[in-house]
Amino acid sequence: MALLLVPVGSFEQHGPHLPFETDLIIAQAVAKAVAERIGGVVGESVPVGVSVEHMDFPGTKTLTVDEFKKKILEIAEKNRDVAFINGHGGNNRSLRELGLRHANLTSLFKPYDHAGEIETSLMLYLKPELVRKREIRQHDFRWPDKDGWKTMDYSRSGVLGDPTKATNEKGERYFRELVEKTLKALGY
Ligand SMILES: [Zn+2]
Repeated sequence: MALLLVPVGSFEQHGPHLPFETDLIIAQAVAKAVAERIGGVVGESVPVGVSVEHMDFPGTKTLTVDEFKKKILEIAEKNRDVAFINGHGGNNRSLRELGLRHANLTSLFKPYDHAGEIETSLMLYLKPELVRKREIRQHDFRWPDKDGWKTMDYSRSGVLGDPTKATNEKGERYFRELVEKTLKALGY
């Protein structure tokens, strides 16, 4: 039976220049590329994740950890051959704890930023029409240095990383690397 790939994202602020759906868009694109390589099928996405760290920013949606795990388990119970392709770091721990087949994109790739060079490059490559290019600038931020961090304490703008270093070409390179690492993480 063909493997079902379920993209998992978040609906959270990604600074002034990237859309709320950034993590999902990246996960969907990786899932599609992986499906093409292995003859898999891309299923319905899980569009909202655990984004408690971003709730100080208007527009962000979140599930509780329990709600998120329940949703993932429901999908896994209905589909025997399933793997979750997760684009949001706040979901990583829940997916690890559930012990189901998955790839956490943000941990395959270090350092993985938030609306910084990596995510902005990926979006410039995958969905340039959704990037507000005039809003790309440097922001004051520090990298989070403890568990249970809140984005607002490290970046008033919500950006972690430097989006001015992002290019479409880097995005293509990062994307190809993500696809290869995801295949490996899934055992191919
Ligand atoms: Zn993101």
